[in-house]
Amino acid sequence: MASTPLLRTDDRGLFCEAGGFYIDPWRPVERAVISHAHGDHASWGSAAYLGAEPSVPILRRRLGEAARIEGVPFGERVRMGGVTVSFHPAGHILGSAQVRVERGGEIWVFSGDYKRRADPTCETFEPVACHTFITEATFALPIYRWDDTPVVAREIFDWWEANREAGRASVLFCYALGKAQRILGELARLTDRSAFVHGSIEPLNECYRRAGIAMLPTRPVSETAKGQSFAGELVLAPPSAGGSTWMRRFGPASTAFASGWMRVRGTRRRRGFDRGFVISDHADWPDLLQTFEEIGAERVLTTHGYAEPLARYLRERGMAAGTLTTPFEGETED
Ligand SMILES: [Zn+2]
Ligand SMILES: [Zn+2]
Repeated sequence: MASTPLLRTDDRGLFCEAGGFYIDPWRPVERAVISHAHGDHASWGSAAYLGAEPSVPILRRRLGEAARIEGVPFGERVRMGGVTVSFHPAGHILGSAQVRVERGGEIWVFSGDYKRRADPTCETFEPVACHTFITEATFALPIYRWDDTPVVAREIFDWWEANREAGRASVLFCYALGKAQRILGELARLTDRSAFVHGSIEPLNECYRRAGIAMLPTRPVSETAKGQSFAGELVLAPPSAGGSTWMRRFGPASTAFASGWMRVRGTRRRRGFDRGFVISDHADWPDLLQTFEEIGAERVLTTHGYAEPLARYLRERGMAAGTLTTPFEGETED
């Protein structure tokens, strides 16, 4: 067996020398294999991109019409140089994939970002047996445990209802890609009212609708007439829109943030939201540990967030574990 590891980081990204490609490179490269369309994983400027088929429309939206993007169906094996590559659902956002790389019987899986909770807007995570598993560690501390999603969806709906009765707008901050669509998908099980969305969210909703995902009907805030009343309405917006003049048009409003970070009470207070809803597109602590057990990896390499504490925890339990330094961000606070 060759002595170079199948995947290793260099200044451009996670490099597979035997296959002649990078996974989720953070600088432009010749051949990029992409786990999913979030900005810290799908960066601009590479000569060619390969991703799971359902992620292609979103990648195109993010990387531009001129980008060379090819899709491969989930599970299909592609020969690249001396290795075989395949994509497997990560359950994070629509089309998000784990990348499996095999060379002469040795199997590595790069998880990308992943979650194990049910999500009506994306494919379900598939455990893939491997020797080395590169896992994200965004929420890898025992305090991070998610409630069942239908419970959280009901909390969001009840908050909207209470604001409606009080004549207030409900402004819910969440990531434009993935979280917004998941919330709209969950709420569609509770109501058929429509919601307003920030201009950055609507084009992504269109990608999801074209893929056949059911969500609440939405209208972009930017297309409403001047003087539109938002009393009683639900508005979804990315965190970057908060505190700006964009907020003024809503009149009296209750604000909330939907994020895994809302598990820690101080975070909500510090950020000045009226409410926090604990809902994340990343695995929580029990789901991380359960995943390592299910796939039977001999070695786990951790990256994103609490990489070091997670690797230490695994080593203390007799597992081979180490960290991998990458600029991936997981779920940032803003
Ligand atoms: Zn992501
Ligand atoms: Zn990430």
